[in-house]
Amino acid sequence: MELIQSQKGKDLLLSGGYRYRKARTNTDGSVSWRCAETACRGRVKVSLENVVVNVTRQSHAPDPAKNEAKKSVSNMKWRAADTLEKPRQLIQGSTRGINLEASVHLPSYNASQRTVERIRQRGEVSCPNPGSVADINIPVALQVTSRNLNFLSWDSGQNDPHRIFMFGTK
Ligand SMILES: [Zn+2]
Repeated sequence: MELIQSQKGKDLLLSGGYRYRKARTNTDGSVSWRCAETACRGRVKVSLENVVVNVTRQSHAPDPAKNEAKKSVSNMKWRAADTLEKPRQLIQGSTRGINLEASVHLPSYNASQRTVERIRQRGEVSCPNPGSVADINIPVALQVTSRNLNFLSWDSGQNDPHRIFMFGTK
C-alpha cells in the first residue's frame, strides 16, 4: 500500500492495483477509504498498524499499470515543489524504471514540463503555519523517505489535544 497525491492535492491510497479516496478517520484511529471510481462501492480500511483490510469488494478489475503511472506523476510533483532539480532531471528521475505498460498512462514530456513550471511558479505545497496541533497536516511527500518507505509511523490524531507524531522507519 502506498499514499500519493491526486491532481487536486488530495490523498490517494494505492493498494492491490486499485486507487482509493479518503472517506473518513474512524474513532479507533483507522482510516476508511473508498474506491476512486465513482460508480464503484469498493472500500478498504487501514488500521493504525498500516494493515489494509477489505471491507467491500471491488466491482471491476484492478489497474496496477495506471497506479504505477499516477505514483510517478505524484512523485514528479513533489519533487517540483520540494527540490531544486532541473525539469529534465526531475521528469526523468520520477519516471525511471517505470514499465512500458505503465508508461502509456504518463503525460507527455511537454505536459510534464509545463506542470513542473506551473508548480514552481505557484510555490505550491508550501506548508502553512498551523494554529494548533489539530491543524498539522503532514504532506504525503513528507510521510515517506526518499526510498519510499513509510516515515510517519504514528499520529495520535487531530482530536488529541496533546497530539503526538512518531517518525521513523522499521
Ligand atoms: Zn472500484
